[in-house]
Amino acid sequence: MKQTIKDIDVNGKRVLLRVDFNVPLDENGVITDATRINMELPTIKYLLMHNASLVICSHLGRPDGEVNKKYSLFPVAKYLVKELVGRVFFANDCIGEDVENKAKSLKPGEVLLLENVRFHKEEEENDPVFASKLAKLADIYINDAFGTAHRKHASTYGVAKLLPSAVGFLMGKEITAIKGVIDNPERPLVAILGGAKVSDKIPLLNNFVNKCDTLLIGGGMAFTFLKANGVKVGSSLVDDEKIEVAKEILAKAKERGVKVVLPVDYLCSKEFSPNAKGVRVKGDIPEGLQGLDIGKTTIKIFLKEIKNANSIIWNGPLGVFEFKGFAKGTTEIAKAIIKFKGKAIVGGGDSVAAINKVGDTASIYHVSSGGGASLKLMSGESLPCVEIISNK
Ligand code: AMP
Repeated sequence: MKQTIKDIDVNGKRVLLRVDFNVPLDENGVITDATRINMELPTIKYLLMHNASLVICSHLGRPDGEVNKKYSLFPVAKYLVKELVGRVFFANDCIGEDVENKAKSLKPGEVLLLENVRFHKEEEENDPVFASKLAKLADIYINDAFGTAHRKHASTYGVAKLLPSAVGFLMGKEITAIKGVIDNPERPLVAILGGAKVSDKIPLLNNFVNKCDTLLIGGGMAFTFLKANGVKVGSSLVDDEKIEVAKEILAKAKERGVKVVLPVDYLCSKEFSPNAKGVRVKGDIPEGLQGLDIGKTTIKIFLKEIKNANSIIWNGPLGVFEFKGFAKGTTEIAKAIIKFKGKAIVGGGDSVAAINKVGDTASIYHVSSGGGASLKLMSGESLPCVEIISNK
């Protein structure tokens, strides 16, 4: 068992807290959705109430190892000042002498938010020297950045080797909820998988075959499987390098009695554009057309499987839901999951955005803050940044 925030004495200590403040900003640097910050407030407030001083670090966007003010965390500091009644300071960097001095002068109950860790290329390289510079800033390390827990970076992994460590409330909640469903599911367990990151997600599908009773595959993911089954997919999104893996997954599923449901009809278009008009195609897709949403018969089949399920995991939209004409598949599945009475876990930014659009998500067992991390955990794999945390 991993140490949680409640297992350690933070009184009078300086805590380095890694969070996921990767919030969307508009062109004026205004936060357009503060959900990720709000989700982190219980951990921050708990630590401050227990007399810790906090050095908080995060990434924002993909600055690729270079300083880029577009991805500055300064707007987040301004937001935190309001939420935490003025006890927040901001550092223009995340390592170095100035930052160390600022961290040292913090009093219990105060917060220092560091500038974006990804302004240094060493962060994503998990550079040990960079990790040791981060470790210098505190006595204890707490990781609450579930969304990046599958990536071994300096601030999510390297630093955990250097300080006594624990997981934060958000990380703890994610792990408990997801493992709670995956390790001992009420069957049948139905996985709904979509999206476009085919090469990332296909290897994990292999694990899903060991866990689930039924796999519903839609979105861009479906076409690699359809092609593997000999269906013509026109110019739809396909990862040709993963056709063999798809074949193996289909064979393994058959052997294990796992039902794999692929789309039987699609809404297709000649072009990939927001105003594209959908044409319904059943079976083989002609050359020049690409499938951008699941069709109405497929929606019906998927909804029936959802009705028969006792547990559900969902990651990835079933179509290009950002385009008005191709959102129906994702919207219908989202509505069904909101009505679903069993335990459902929804992960992935797009699936969560889609479900938030169609209704109140309070009835859903768990809406995850992570995409890749939740998918990995759902598939039964462990997360390296959790594994590295000190044991109880
Ligand atoms: P992911 O990050 O893997 O969950 O992928 C999300 C993206 O998949 C969204 O931006 C969708 O527009 C895209 N997507 C879903 N269905 C399709 C499709 N049939 N063809 C191309 N892209 C798709």
